[in-house]
Amino acid sequence: MSNKQASFYQSVGRSFDKAAALTKHPKGLLDQIKVCNSVYQMNFPVKIGNSYQVIEAYRVQHSHHRQPTKGGIRFSHLVNQEEVMALASLMTYKCALVDVPFGGAKGGVKVSPRKYTPEQLERITRRYTVELIRKGFIGPGLDVPAPDYGTGAREMAWIVDTYQQMKNGELDSIACVTGKPVAQNGIRGRTEATGRGVFYGLREMLSYDDDCKRMGVEPGIEGKTMVIQGLGNVGYYTGTISIKEGAVKVIGVSEIEGTIVKEDGIDLVKLFKFRKDTGSILGFPGSKTLKVREDWVGIECDILVPAALESQIHKGNAKQVKARIIAEAANGPVTADAEAILLKKGVTIIPDMYLNAGGVTVSYFEWLKNLSHVRYGRIQKRFDQNAFSNIVGLVEKFTGKTVGAKERDFLTRGADEVDLVRSGLEETMITAYAQIRETFRRKKKVEDLRTAAFITAIDKVASDYMTLGVFP
Ligand code: NAD
Repeated sequence: MSNKQASFYQSVGRSFDKAAALTKHPKGLLDQIKVCNSVYQMNFPVKIGNSYQVIEAYRVQHSHHRQPTKGGIRFSHLVNQEEVMALASLMTYKCALVDVPFGGAKGGVKVSPRKYTPEQLERITRRYTVELIRKGFIGPGLDVPAPDYGTGAREMAWIVDTYQQMKNGELDSIACVTGKPVAQNGIRGRTEATGRGVFYGLREMLSYDDDCKRMGVEPGIEGKTMVIQGLGNVGYYTGTISIKEGAVKVIGVSEIEGTIVKEDGIDLVKLFKFRKDTGSILGFPGSKTLKVREDWVGIECDILVPAALESQIHKGNAKQVKARIIAEAANGPVTADAEAILLKKGVTIIPDMYLNAGGVTVSYFEWLKNLSHVRYGRIQKRFDQNAFSNIVGLVEKFTGKTVGAKERDFLTRGADEVDLVRSGLEETMITAYAQIRETFRRKKKVEDLRTAAFITAIDKVASDYMTLGVFP
């Protein structure tokens, strides 16, 4: 091993090659699957205060085997072309894995959101959108962005508004971006979707006794201890949902300002509010602050959840890891070099392309909702409610017993949009894990879940290419 760290893009490439070598697809097809199909780098001026700033930005479409392409937009001062290419590549495999019929894409704008006012961010976002429109890099059937690191529903609202101003009358224009506010044709359950998917993925994996034995943990998610890096969208919802629905104990949180631990469990809702009020997680009542922020990696716990940025666990700190499971909520948080060390130590890594696929899954539901121009549940909810009510009525008649008001409400309730979204997400995470698991068990030379996930995804993309007739 050389001392130079593998870049994020190189790490993704190495994982792809390791998996591709275990498939029987022709080299030309594998080469085509691996490369980025279109890379668009742009520089545009935006007025900030009294002067103009040149903003560097990207949109990468990794694979056109399915259209539209899909992937988030990242706002960060660390954005660079290779990073966006790596993220776009992961999107292709992620979509294939969870049967979301899109090619992969990703966008990046090289700005630190904290250094700009909301008005300035709006100007940057709108100008970026115009650049995408001009080059055909956005549209309901072309390329559909979503939130990622540093962006959220607010930015998506600016994007759709800009798009609609320029594409007046386009019937499906609202489907040009997902992750929109619910009031602007977004979907209930999208904000929490990635974190909720992480929870479903973890719970599913921990439900298999033999998988738990291999990982060296007791079966079941209940009572597991967790440490989270990054209390943003993905980290926050992964933590709060795991606590509420999985009885997990979050004992450590790392943020930009430092890392805190609290052995008896951290209330993340209170911590989030505390950070909002004070500007920091440090000093949270009952917690201890670690001397070195990066030492979150070595906290003793069952599940380590990196939910910030890529390359956070690298060959310099991988040996510190004491957790049995690393749950990749972020994209690319473990470098290829670190992975080699961790696998030797017997640590199980649940790969990003599976574990954080909840976001794109629910984005797909949002896109479908926008194309059908009707809210989920609107048509059948009342019908279901009446049908269930009739069944309960019949049971009461035949048994001579009456169901209590609370039970009746529970039994006769029709599904709302959020219920259907959660159900679709849960089903997706369970099915995708079963497929990865099957590849892992079936292929003798597959030693880790990332390779199993890559093989599963590559097989699906290869099959698409062959169906398209591009590769006979
Ligand atoms: P976010 O901007 O909402 O939150 C990221 C958090 O990480 C921020 O609070 C930030 O302060 C913190 N952070 C940054 N550097 C840190 C460091 N060195 N140490 C500790 N904390 C640090 O972003 P997000 O949307 O939650 O995305 C996080 C990761 O999840 C990214 O890798 C992203 O690509 C991935 N992801 C996001 C989604 C989504 O739906 N938002 C979907 C799939 C994957």
